[in-house]
Amino acid sequence: MFCANALDMKMWDNKHFAHGSLVFESLGTENGNRVIAPQAKFAWLASLPIAAAIFYQDTNNIRQIVANAAFDELTFGPRREAGLNLDEFADRIIAMTEQSRESHFECWRSADPVNRRELEMNIARFGETHDMFLVSLVDRTAEALSRVSLRREMLSDSLTGFCNRTGFEEQVEAAIGTLQKSESSPIYYAIILIDLARFSRVNESVGAMAGDELIITVARRLNSRIRSNEILARIGGNEFALFVSLSDDQLNVESIGERLTDAFADPCKLSGLEIQMECAVAAAIGSVASDDAMDTLRRAQIAMKCAKSSKKFELYSAGALDTARHRFSIETDLRRALQRGELELHYQPLVELSTGQLNGFEALARWDHPDHGFISPVDFIPVAEESGLIVPLGRWALEQAATSIGDWDLRSGGVLPFKVSVNLSAVQMQRDDVIYAVANAIKGAGITGERIMLELTESAFVSDPDGAKKILNALKGLNTNIAMDDFGTGYSNLAYLQQLPIDVLKIDRSFVSEMLVDKDKRAIVRTVLSLARALGIKTTAEGIESIEVSATLKRLGCSFGQGYYFARPLTPTAAYEFLVANNAPATN
Ligand code: C2E
Ligand code: CA
Ligand code: CA
Repeated sequence: MFCANALDMKMWDNKHFAHGSLVFESLGTENGNRVIAPQAKFAWLASLPIAAAIFYQDTNNIRQIVANAAFDELTFGPRREAGLNLDEFADRIIAMTEQSRESHFECWRSADPVNRRELEMNIARFGETHDMFLVSLVDRTAEALSRVSLRREMLSDSLTGFCNRTGFEEQVEAAIGTLQKSESSPIYYAIILIDLARFSRVNESVGAMAGDELIITVARRLNSRIRSNEILARIGGNEFALFVSLSDDQLNVESIGERLTDAFADPCKLSGLEIQMECAVAAAIGSVASDDAMDTLRRAQIAMKCAKSSKKFELYSAGALDTARHRFSIETDLRRALQRGELELHYQPLVELSTGQLNGFEALARWDHPDHGFISPVDFIPVAEESGLIVPLGRWALEQAATSIGDWDLRSGGVLPFKVSVNLSAVQMQRDDVIYAVANAIKGAGITGERIMLELTESAFVSDPDGAKKILNALKGLNTNIAMDDFGTGYSNLAYLQQLPIDVLKIDRSFVSEMLVDKDKRAIVRTVLSLARALGIKTTAEGIESIEVSATLKRLGCSFGQGYYFARPLTPTAAYEFLVANNAPATN
């Protein structure tokens, strides 16, 4: 029996002896095996910076003959939870021999996911007789762990601990993969989106910390309402997503949405404040077999756009995608049209009902698309508002209208007493410095502010009444006139109206055009007219298409009329001709 040396040796177990930093097996001589003196021949092993061992293959066995302490620690030492035992090396060496390979490399991972270990294993044949194998191990566990935690961080939302959008995509794809494999599983799934309304405003007013707290509260409430096989994620600042596989009895996606929105029934209490959260809910259904999950998510997002404006649950329908595509193409083309100056302003006359005299024009944007022909502002203005293009479009309309006033004055050789009304969108008021834009347009055209009437809808006041009031006062400071457009269709906060510097109320076409056949509409028109009179505000009726409507409105005391009965919106040239034909001589 071979002994390492005369120094005292410690019994490790039945098979192994340890000495210093070397561990080696005692090799018997009885079966004719060669005796190797490890301490002499393999002393270099101890000084290797990595875990290494030498194995020896004889006719019957594979044995470890020597190993350094690092190797021992990884395989038999306190970290033997690695689960790597000598048999595993033997298996690989046998495979190498069978396949006549000189070396073997693998990235070995422990089976236990909790105590995960990851080692790089290298085995190389060496020795004069080719019967020895140098096995080395590099512990990559730390790198693997940080890779895992980095990945977890990349896939999760740090605030709620839910997965983030990327994590959601991965988990949903994995869940669909599992559903595809199992025969009895549902064939449909739904992605439901929940968007916290007004969250950014809450965030601004209570501060980001409280905003975070609010998100956490909402997340907790949502989490308590989901079922074990559902996936909940926070995919945006104020947007949550839920993945649900739909069994036959669960095809009512709206009811799943209700189960979640129930989370918003009670107000959230935050550092002394009670905040009633509201949300928009939308969903899209996908087929496990054929639909790409990310397409379904995109469809749910399209439905979400509708839900935000309809203020009710929206389920994606096939037509919605066409609408979205159509909108997108309008946006691209509109951007180009604005750059190339393809839009035109037309001018629809406004007539003083008591005298029949021209009072002014409303400037209305017109777009003659090179391929699709005339596109109505009813279609492109909402797209401009959604995409932000309303800012350049609105500025263009202001400048164009002001320029026309200046041009017509010049051509007629004096200042004609007419105004031009320009529509200001609520979005434009939020996004642009409209005071600057109006001042600039007036100055650029060399006209006075009172020649311009700005038409605003009630929606401009809903989100930020005080801000809007300040803007109106500043616009009045430029001597412009203000009209409240589409009056009667919106929120009509009459008490509020009194506080605003409004010169004209425009009664919406929907009341005017049917006032002779619908007595409710007639009653509304009468009410608006008497309200305006009481407040000392003038009135314009839109959409007058007949002499009867015009006469009735005149009798009821409406100040101005606009509609096809008088004239349709006219090109700038036609408008100037109309102006000259219908106006008193210019005043200097
Ligand atoms: P609006 O401000 O209510 O403009 C009046 C609309 O009623 C115009 O539609 C006009 O052509 C139409 N109209 C006028 N008289 C009659 C009539 O007797 N019968 C009928 N059936 N319709 C009549 P248009 O030009 O299609 O504009 C639609 C809307 O698009 C406008 O409604 C306005 O909200 C918006 N819009 C148009 N141009 C601009 C713009 O330059 N800026 C902004 N922000 N919005 C604009
Ligand atoms: Ca208008
Ligand atoms: Ca209108």
